[in-house]
Amino acid sequence: MPGFEIFDESEKQQINEVMDKGFTFRYNFDGMRNDVWKARELEGMICETLDIKHAHLVSSGTAALTVAMAAAGIGAGDEVIVPPFTFVASVEAIVLAGAIPVFAEIDETLTLSAEGIKAAITPRTKAVNFVHMCGYGGHMDEVKAVCDKHNLVLLEDACQATGATYKGQSLGAIGQVGTFSFDSVKTISCGEGGAVLTNDETIYNNAHMFSDHGHDHIGMDRGAESHPIMGSNFRISEMNAAVGVAQWKKLDRILAIQRKNKKALKEALKAYSEVSFRVIADESGDNAGFLSIMLPTEARAQEVNAALAAEGVPAVFYWYANNWHYLKNWKHIHEMKSSAKLPIDLIADRPDYTQVKTPKSDEIMGRTISMLIQLSWTEEDIQFRIDAFKNVFKK
Ligand SMILES: *Cc1c(COP(=O)(O)O)cnc(C)c1O
Repeated sequence: MPGFEIFDESEKQQINEVMDKGFTFRYNFDGMRNDVWKARELEGMICETLDIKHAHLVSSGTAALTVAMAAAGIGAGDEVIVPPFTFVASVEAIVLAGAIPVFAEIDETLTLSAEGIKAAITPRTKAVNFVHMCGYGGHMDEVKAVCDKHNLVLLEDACQATGATYKGQSLGAIGQVGTFSFDSVKTISCGEGGAVLTNDETIYNNAHMFSDHGHDHIGMDRGAESHPIMGSNFRISEMNAAVGVAQWKKLDRILAIQRKNKKALKEALKAYSEVSFRVIADESGDNAGFLSIMLPTEARAQEVNAALAAEGVPAVFYWYANNWHYLKNWKHIHEMKSSAKLPIDLIADRPDYTQVKTPKSDEIMGRTISMLIQLSWTEEDIQFRIDAFKNVFKK
């Protein structure tokens, strides 16, 4: 997954262009920036690749979730359906918006199922935060149909799935609003950064305003701009955007390497009858940043996880026990604990998160192991893993 593995002179040249000719701020300063607009340039590149009307860069993927929700009108007291297998930012962004996370079941796509979403809908449900985990999503036609039928905003968190497609459509561009992360370990890295994606004019306008104190960004004089809405500061800097410009040009190369490396491991694993694979609705659109496999039982998955570690295979993730990607292990979320009183504390009938159960997701995640697919692997690195598999898996 990580684009940082192929940093080279091009990222440095892009940053130098900002420092030598341009300016650090993404807006205004027209007189001194010599027409260097890195954030705008990257936004244009993203729109072209994704075939989407608007991409708005922000300071992180988490900021993108916050901005996307505000821009799509998701706020205080709204229920937002979210999976238990995700990065914790999904939940944080909902809670900090004053909204209520409602956990729903995933299926063997490792993402929310249409049935899981349906079962979690109440009269207060406003949106689904659909998280495309580990490089790919789920059955998006079914998911979208449920959202449309119940008039829910489909927010696609594609932070881990940059470049992935479903039936030709880019993940992140299927729902009303989507997000990317460009943090240090994502497919495309800006160091820190993220993007809000949408085809909706109103959502786009809200997004760029909300991410910059409500500025309307009309005209060339920031001081004279008006502020149709309140917002905050989730801006990206031109230096971060510049790194992204260099990285985005490598997206096709990154995807090609990941797909090739993943295919080699997946083919080797097909020899073992105890191994099954995460369901991928459209294999040709897989970002291929991870290879996720399922074992017959939780006990066997734990055994395999330990055996792969003993073989010295790095970057193997047993998410079910990992304290950063699964609800079961998030004590601070169960207790809705923060440094200050949260808006959700004012909602008397909100869920008791210590009692939330997702047995179907537990059953799946208990058996699932993921391997990070890296760009820097040599043929020997791949063969090392294939040889390790021989010692670990049963025919
Ligand atoms: C990384 C990630 C985020 C947050 O992105 P940051 O840029 O690190 O804030 C959100 N959701 C998912 C699924 C992620 O993997």
